[in-house]
Amino acid sequence: MEPERRSIVVPDQELLEDEELWTGDDDADHGGWFCVRTDPFPCPASGCVFVADFMTAAHLILVWQERDDPNLLWHAQRAKEVGRNPRVVGYEEPFGASASYYAWEAAGRPVHGIRGR
Ligand SMILES: [Zn+2]
Repeated sequence: MEPERRSIVVPDQELLEDEELWTGDDDADHGGWFCVRTDPFPCPASGCVFVADFMTAAHLILVWQERDDPNLLWHAQRAKEVGRNPRVVGYEEPFGASASYYAWEAAGRPVHGIRGR
């Protein structure tokens, strides 16, 4: 007999399955690019426990090629306004997985993940 398993199913299970998250432009090398470090900021998706230390999208660190990219500055300003204490820093791989801001924008700006079909 199969034991009753329904009780252990997590209601928000789909949020725990990383395979459907947008994975960005994985192959790109963003060494020498710039990102925005911020105070810890919890993921806005309900039920998600991810906390970002950088400006992120779908849990990926957003990176820009130029330190003075107007778009980067605009986002840093917004982060400042909401008290996230942003600092523009050179991106380094140990920070975590990165995604080019413009690749993210081209993907339709997924905030958390893209649902499979
Ligand atoms: Zn999340």
